[in-house]
Amino acid sequence: MKLDRKALGWIAISLLGLIIIGLIVLIIRALRGSKKVTYTFSEDLEKFLSIMHPSVEDRFRELVYKMEQKGYTVIPTSSYRTFAHQARLYAENNKNARPGRSRHNYGFALDINLRKNGVQIRKASPIAEWEATGIPQIARQLGFTWGGDFASYHDPVHFAINEPSTDELYQKAVAQFGSDPKAIRGNQVKL
Ligand SMILES: [Zn+2]
Repeated sequence: MKLDRKALGWIAISLLGLIIIGLIVLIIRALRGSKKVTYTFSEDLEKFLSIMHPSVEDRFRELVYKMEQKGYTVIPTSSYRTFAHQARLYAENNKNARPGRSRHNYGFALDINLRKNGVQIRKASPIAEWEATGIPQIARQLGFTWGGDFASYHDPVHFAINEPSTDELYQKAVAQFGSDPKAIRGNQVKL
């Protein structure tokens, strides 16, 4: 049987179409699959991550996972902080945020130190040392705000999600729990 050029052309186009559809299906499956991945960590990290706001917890897990992939031990120092705890911090140092004015009060921020080869990178470490880890760049790519980028306050241990605004979170917290700071559960604010 002899196929003319027109028939061959149609066969080629059909095959190409099938290949493209197949690739699209594979890409969609891969993207869906990657979103379902849940990361689990050391008991210490879990203690801090499990109390973050449920709407952003998985994003923090992904960030910490990427830090570990870079070969760092991630040492959490703060995540969700109650309004009462924030009030104590503000009383100690008025450079600290007032109760309800920190992303930590809603479980939207995580403070960490990093350790590799016996060297610990901490709050007092220079910005250049943090940048050299490659982690601030990863955090920015994932949509996090990094405290090392703050103009007025050196806080490179701090990684946060900035949406919704602190004003909005505060208003929702008061609407849900009332104005007594002791009654507010910031990490349970309904968005
Ligand atoms: Zn912080």
